[in-house]
Amino acid sequence: MHNDIEKIYVSENEINDMLNRLGKEITNDYKDRNPLIIGLLKGCLPFMSDLVKKLDFPLTLNYIKASSYQGIESTGFITIEGKVPDVKGRDVIVIDDILDTGRTLDSIRRVLVEHGANSVELCVLLDKPEGRKFDIHAKYVGGPVPNEFVVGYGLDYNEHYRNLPYIGVLKPRVYQK
Ligand code: 5GP
Ligand code: MG
Repeated sequence: MHNDIEKIYVSENEINDMLNRLGKEITNDYKDRNPLIIGLLKGCLPFMSDLVKKLDFPLTLNYIKASSYQGIESTGFITIEGKVPDVKGRDVIVIDDILDTGRTLDSIRRVLVEHGANSVELCVLLDKPEGRKFDIHAKYVGGPVPNEFVVGYGLDYNEHYRNLPYIGVLKPRVYQK
């Protein structure tokens, strides 16, 4: 697995620093608000699991599995599999691995507001500002990455590499398999 990585963009240590900083920021803002933390499966898994351990105050957890609707990307449609969590009156923080075009988080945010959330903020480990197509802002961001396809720490290529403890880019030969 490690052999397939061309270059590491965010090391384990850097991820740790990001987690500590985000943990402090979110604690500052939410320690008395009993927030509902919603992760977007499956990319959120390592990040969410590590981040919530830095939040030492009352909160609840849930998840959404969203998939983008093939072929109509430009219309901004995504579908949510299953039931939308009960967010009525809750202060929600949505967690995802990366903010690229913004399509996913823009749609999810809208749905949660429609379902009666009191507030919705977004938290992503990585931001690709150059990829943005939707007017959307994440309040909590670990750090930026260049406009390249990255894997690791939740981010997959054909469902693999999510378990890498760092973020990197794949060697070209991996795509030729
Ligand atoms: P957006 O809706 O912002 O365009 O894209 C968000 C989703 O696209 C992420 O949750 C992630 O699943 C996928 N994505 C965007 N950029 C990358 C990337 O560089 N690597 C991987 N593995 N997935 C990405
Ligand atoms: Mg994803």
